[in-house]
Amino acid sequence: MQAFTDSADVVHFIGGKTERGAGERTQAIFNPATGAAARRLVLGEVADVEAAVASAKAAFPAWRDTPPIRRARVMLRFLELMNRHKDELAAIITAEHGKVFADAQGEVARGIDVIEFACGIPQLLKGDYTEQVSTGMDNWTVRQPLGVVAGITPFNFPCMVPCWMFPVALAAGCTFILKPSERDPSASLFMARLLKEAGLPDGVLNVVQGDKIVVDALLAHRDVKAVSFVGSTPIANYIYETGAKHGKRVQALGGAKNHMVVMPDADIEQTVDALIGAGYGSAGERCMAISVAVLVGDVADKIVPRLAERARTLKIKNGMEADAEMGPIVTRQALERIEGYIASGVEEGATLVVDGRGLKVPGHEEGFFTGGTLFDNVTPQMRIYKEEIFGPVLACVRVHDFAQAVQLINDHEFGNGVACFTRDGNVAREFGRQIEVGMVGINVPIPVPMAWHGFGGWKRSLFGDMHAYGEEGVRFYTKQKSIMQRWPESTEKGAEFTMPVAR
Ligand code: NAD
Repeated sequence: MQAFTDSADVVHFIGGKTERGAGERTQAIFNPATGAAARRLVLGEVADVEAAVASAKAAFPAWRDTPPIRRARVMLRFLELMNRHKDELAAIITAEHGKVFADAQGEVARGIDVIEFACGIPQLLKGDYTEQVSTGMDNWTVRQPLGVVAGITPFNFPCMVPCWMFPVALAAGCTFILKPSERDPSASLFMARLLKEAGLPDGVLNVVQGDKIVVDALLAHRDVKAVSFVGSTPIANYIYETGAKHGKRVQALGGAKNHMVVMPDADIEQTVDALIGAGYGSAGERCMAISVAVLVGDVADKIVPRLAERARTLKIKNGMEADAEMGPIVTRQALERIEGYIASGVEEGATLVVDGRGLKVPGHEEGFFTGGTLFDNVTPQMRIYKEEIFGPVLACVRVHDFAQAVQLINDHEFGNGVACFTRDGNVAREFGRQIEVGMVGINVPIPVPMAWHGFGGWKRSLFGDMHAYGEEGVRFYTKQKSIMQRWPESTEKGAEFTMPVAR
């Protein structure tokens, strides 16, 4: 296994081999903690997409015809290798993304969960069967793989989000082209090599590095049957529309603004812990991060001072340091965008309780660091409330009652995740029923569904009909076929000109 701490260029993986491909263009990959350009990424061109699709297309018939139990065995070996190399993979993530090492380990663990789910593919692909739908006639349904499918993934989970896609697609019998984020592309390459070691035939999984050029070539390619996307809402919307225009099945998961309602009866210490972890963990760069605390009634006066104290004392450092609670932001541009949002919140009249801007971490002066920021008295008209900041900025909105909290959340354009902290079962139950959000936590701040449940938001957080992974994932990568059969013992003769009915 090639070390990933060297300065080798990060390239494609096509037909079972690392390939530099046609690309002349390169882009620096930074270590966000030091601010140093650590490696170079070779950006793909249309010719690289052509090569990857041709390789995936050629590999498809044999992989489709491989019995599901044998495909599952490849997944099982991959699972073993992922478990063996999980810390190496977590270190790769921290080096390119910046999140703290323990958090990267958690990300890898959640990715591994989906691989484990995919190992159950023989059971998941079992169809339905009805004997004797008419006299002497049976009817059954099977699910067959779509063919070549593609996945386009964001920077914030360079291992887990690709794992939402390719293990399920491959287990279902599809062949796959992964286009990882340009910011932290090495995790995908590492996993592709482990899959080869696990016995995956060449061409079944390909990785093409790159930017919009690669994405557009995948969206337009007639041999790509489906596209899974995870990223920001404007791009998700574009992927959905463009993919659909080219006749593809598309699931495009977008951005978020996740609220956490705190009822007056909530356990204050538990709630503060939950808000700090969910607001500032991974520097707020999680699509399920809590970015809005909706404080009901008089609870705000108890919560805000405690949040302020904790936000001020966050241990913010290089994610490889054992006691780090929060690492740097992924890029300098993202850091500037986040600090720009903080300035806009001040201009629009929110109360800036803790200002994280301009943080310098000793020994890492060039790193892309900002501190935890806390706003109070945020209103729904402000940009810091309406837009996704995707950074360690927690906005507190004060409301009078539960009904106002629910209305506020239901009126927001995003609907990815949400939480409610309360000790009242009826409030919790009504929250789950009334809230227009795809993933709900009751006293659970980040309710990322387990591998067999499937992940997906509502409203402008998901374009398409099916959630990622779980049974919805299996459905996404397969199409249903219904077969009816009758054998010669049947006594019926002659043409039928009316709609067939059961006899
Ligand atoms: P992004 O939208 O900038 O990039 C995502 C992918 O799209 C990358 O692979 C990128 O190369 C590609 N891309 C970027 N611009 C493109 C363009 N103009 N045309 C075609 N392709 C393009 O997102 P990001 O910054 O990498 O990730 C953060 C975003 O992802 C946040 O908005 C976050 O909420 C979202 N996200 C959502 C989920 C979810 O499940 N809903 C999960 C993780 C991240």
